[in-house]
Amino acid sequence: MSPLTEKDRPIIQLLLSTGTCPRCVLRFCCVGSQMLYRHPHEELLKDLQKFLRNSHEEEGSVCLDVSNPPCKRLRLEPGEEGASDRNCNVAIPQLPPADDGNAATQSLPGNICNVCLGVLQEFCEAGFVKKVCQKVNSADYQFISFVFSVSLPPQLSVRERAAWLGVKQNLGLPFPEDDIIQLKEAYKWIIHPQLSEELGVPADGKSLFEVSVVFTHPETDEECHFLQKQALFTALVILHHVSGIDNNHCDALEIQCNNGAVFVAGRYNKYSRNLPQTPWIIDGERKLESSVEELISEHLMAQFKADSFNFSSSGREDVDVRTLGNGRPFAIELVNPHRIHFTTEEMRRLQQAINDSSDKIQVRDLQLVTRSAIGRMKEGEEEKTKTYSALIWTDKAIQREDITFLDDIKELKLDQKTPLRVLHRRPLAVRCRLIHTMRSEYIDEHHFRLHLKTQAGTYIKEFVHGDFGRTKPNIGSLLNRTADILELDVESVDVDWPPTLAD
Ligand SMILES: [Zn+2]
Repeated sequence: MSPLTEKDRPIIQLLLSTGTCPRCVLRFCCVGSQMLYRHPHEELLKDLQKFLRNSHEEEGSVCLDVSNPPCKRLRLEPGEEGASDRNCNVAIPQLPPADDGNAATQSLPGNICNVCLGVLQEFCEAGFVKKVCQKVNSADYQFISFVFSVSLPPQLSVRERAAWLGVKQNLGLPFPEDDIIQLKEAYKWIIHPQLSEELGVPADGKSLFEVSVVFTHPETDEECHFLQKQALFTALVILHHVSGIDNNHCDALEIQCNNGAVFVAGRYNKYSRNLPQTPWIIDGERKLESSVEELISEHLMAQFKADSFNFSSSGREDVDVRTLGNGRPFAIELVNPHRIHFTTEEMRRLQQAINDSSDKIQVRDLQLVTRSAIGRMKEGEEEKTKTYSALIWTDKAIQREDITFLDDIKELKLDQKTPLRVLHRRPLAVRCRLIHTMRSEYIDEHHFRLHLKTQAGTYIKEFVHGDFGRTKPNIGSLLNRTADILELDVESVDVDWPPTLAD
């Protein structure tokens, strides 16, 4: 009991006498020694009682001082909102009678603490730790450390404050509330080593694996409701509303685990002209049975045993557009994955499994990445160039030499009004876009292929057919013919992320 000093004696006596548990007593004595809190409850109680007895025998005068009748400042004004001794004498500690030889009669090993409602008692015991660990183990997560979080019912704050006011007013001490060791902090001091031992991994505040416990205490829920109505958090208000000790400790309502999200990135090729990037649902009805994100994610979800996923990519192609070349960068956030460790070889096998499962898509460079790295993919989306190949039809016959001039056009400026086909989901605006270069490939009198390198965000289909004059200039206007687009492929998305992996 070395951390305790003479100044603590009246606090210990006062709190123990009103049924506060020994660990809460230590908190109110601002004891910062973590080890001390881990001592068994009964042992702590005995030590505190011994500390008081020794003081009593050796320095009776000091003890007499604190054994005076309750300080008048604690008493409510008579008739104040019907407050009675009964509803303030428990929550606000009052001094025991002067002739009470054993100041700790109220705080017995089996009693529920009036301040923490059992959190620093029952819920610090091996039995509860076992229960938490069983829950963690049965959830079957992969983790190398854990962070423990506790949610306490709000009335514990009310009780904490009431006890603080009680000590302060009753003993007339200058007693900064901030000096009290926080309940959550003390609880973690006690529970961390036990959980760590039982789970076999260290506690780490930065761990992505969270074990959380939610405590409730329905019997005293009413206590904090008045806080919403009362602007002033005064002693009187607390005295009036905080009721006495209950016979039940808190309930551990929920014990839950959560693993921080894992991110997987790669590039995909899409070889189908009948496959949307994301599920295509109109008015609740599914239009096509699959999508790029589903073909990739279903394998990842199964392997990572995640709850859900979020798919993102560097731009997107229309359902009828293929993505060729090195493919389009994508990233998938796997939410609450149970499995998180994958070797390079395992990722390679996972990629192979995706590629074997469908001929509509292929993925490459599949790898684990960090959340922050995904930002690079999104940056690239606006800045970088894209290369396309378009199969074009013209109404009037063309000769080879009619289209060669397109090859000489550089940095062609377009004004694109929001295309009619996307007007339902994009605001109407005129956007200026650049066609950096073009290269034509004559096929026959009505067909040619055009390779284009463009600024990201250019609407290629509209550049070809003109979108009823909404894109100017367009291939039709340049050739002085009606032109339409028959096929479009993305040849490359020039974003240098994620890193290329060796095969
Ligand atoms: Zn307590």
